[in-house]
Amino acid sequence: MADRADRPGISRRRLLVGLGATAAATVAAGTAALPRSGIASWDITTDVLIVGSGAAGVSAAIEARQAGAEVLLIESLARFGGSSAMSGGVVYAGGGTALQQALKVTDSAEAMYNFISLTGGPHPPLDKIQLYCEESVAHFAWLVAQGVPYSEKFTTAKGLYMGDESLYFSGNELAWPARDLARPAARGHVPGIPGMNGGRRLMQVLLSRAEALGVSLRAAVAARRLVIENDGRIAGMQVSIDGQPQAIGVKRGIVLASGGFIHNREMLRQYAPELYDCSVPWGNAGDLGDGINMGIAAGGAALRMHQGFAIAPIYPPENVLSGIVVNASGQRFLSEESYHGVLGDAIAYHQQGRAWLITDQRSAYSLHQDNFLPVARGSSIGDIAAQLGLPRGALQHTVAYYNRYAANGDDPMFHKSQAYLRPLQGPPYTAWDLGVADAFFPAHTFGGLHTTVDGQVLNSFGDEIPGLYAAGRTTAGLPTAPYIASGLSVGDCTFFGRRAGRAAAADAGLRL
Ligand SMILES: Cc1cc2nc3c(=O)[nH]c(=O)nc-3n(C[C@H](O)[C@H](O)[C@H](O)COP(=O)(O)OP(=O)(O)OC[C@H]3O[C@@H](n4cnc5c(N)ncnc54)[C@H](O)[C@@H]3O)c2cc1C
Repeated sequence: MADRADRPGISRRRLLVGLGATAAATVAAGTAALPRSGIASWDITTDVLIVGSGAAGVSAAIEARQAGAEVLLIESLARFGGSSAMSGGVVYAGGGTALQQALKVTDSAEAMYNFISLTGGPHPPLDKIQLYCEESVAHFAWLVAQGVPYSEKFTTAKGLYMGDESLYFSGNELAWPARDLARPAARGHVPGIPGMNGGRRLMQVLLSRAEALGVSLRAAVAARRLVIENDGRIAGMQVSIDGQPQAIGVKRGIVLASGGFIHNREMLRQYAPELYDCSVPWGNAGDLGDGINMGIAAGGAALRMHQGFAIAPIYPPENVLSGIVVNASGQRFLSEESYHGVLGDAIAYHQQGRAWLITDQRSAYSLHQDNFLPVARGSSIGDIAAQLGLPRGALQHTVAYYNRYAANGDDPMFHKSQAYLRPLQGPPYTAWDLGVADAFFPAHTFGGLHTTVDGQVLNSFGDEIPGLYAAGRTTAGLPTAPYIASGLSVGDCTFFGRRAGRAAAADAGLRL
């Protein structure tokens, strides 16, 4: 069939230009900055304006208010809490937190720093990681002081469980090569309440605290366009209330904390096509990239826009980790026990979005689940390979090699832990689809505005934009790809959100 672009009436060049123009227009529609001269008078004024009511926004609001500023927090949706309230509420903390100590878990800031900086992707943000690790003990104490409940209970369960334990290994610490690069410690701190309600409880506590301190919280108010003085300083924000534009004048600073952009399909297609293909956009409906686009429109630089959390949550149950995960060449490409963010990243970004979990009788899913569908079943590995259409002999070779060493407790390629290592033998064999499009493959974004450790938004020359701050998934922060542990995002949001709030409150600001 002829290339669509080659058909009569539309040249390839025109098609590409047309598509590009559409994407550019849609991605940032309506977020262009307004000159101060375009605002006749302010409808509302405040010292500090926070955009977004997730973990980053509310943490910023609490600190700005405690620093003595008048704080207005606006939320575009009808309810507060954002993706943070949907989350497990896991915060990655370590270095000897009160909870670690109570549960006799040995840890150090250095081991935590090594884990985050050495076991994820290349060129991580070392300044942010160092500060985060050095101040993690104090930050966890702050969460406790706000009233977030933690139980003195530890679990060795792999993955977020439904019990009320508050400490677990939430990431890739025990998998190779991470366990050789950094001394493992349990650092997933999760509110001690049963079920997947940690994020809701965390946000209830922080939102109540903000309200009690006198932060003005307003729902159904959407930030639309930053207002900028002639000298480049941020003066305020045009918002939409009941569909009507209103202008908020800001005396000190604005903190953009409006989450990522997983629900902005055009932004995803443009910036993060691998995430676009993932089956489940994960996050609250307000994650449309508004803050990122407003920041860019004001001259802010954006980093790591292609990166995100692509998740292949194959465990629990843990018995499936005795199976093997293979790509379209019938080859393994990591240790199957890897954290599901590491596995998801490998599939989405490095295996063209295709992979299968191959199990024998003992390692198969035994209870009904529809996250990963069985797409091939047979009495031999050859049957499976033929049904999947893998290159002739490849999967058989992979399994024979794996089994030969596994029988002696060895995995020369990926050093799978003994707990999950045994030969794959005993029909029926099953292949479970781990492809990004058809499996349960949630994703959300990591890219965002370039900020200092105090949340000041930087332009592409590395200069601060006066009066403009950002935090959470509106920024490029601690979470980078591959995502190596649950809790790094909410940890980053609360920690750097607090710093952004303090810095905005201390901003020399404007005389309105
Ligand atoms: C099911 C699930 C479980 C997760 N579990 C964990 C976990 O346990 N630990 C972890 O670290 N991470 C977890 N994550 C990821 C984590 O929840 C998010 O990355 C994090 O909460 C983002 O916080 P935020 O404050 O940046 O944004 P959000 O919490 O999304 O808050 C942003 C808010 O800004 C609002 N907003 C958007 N645009 C505007 C606008 N123009 N004007 C005003 N308001 C606006 C949004 O509506 C939203 O309420 C999970 C995610 C999901 C979906």
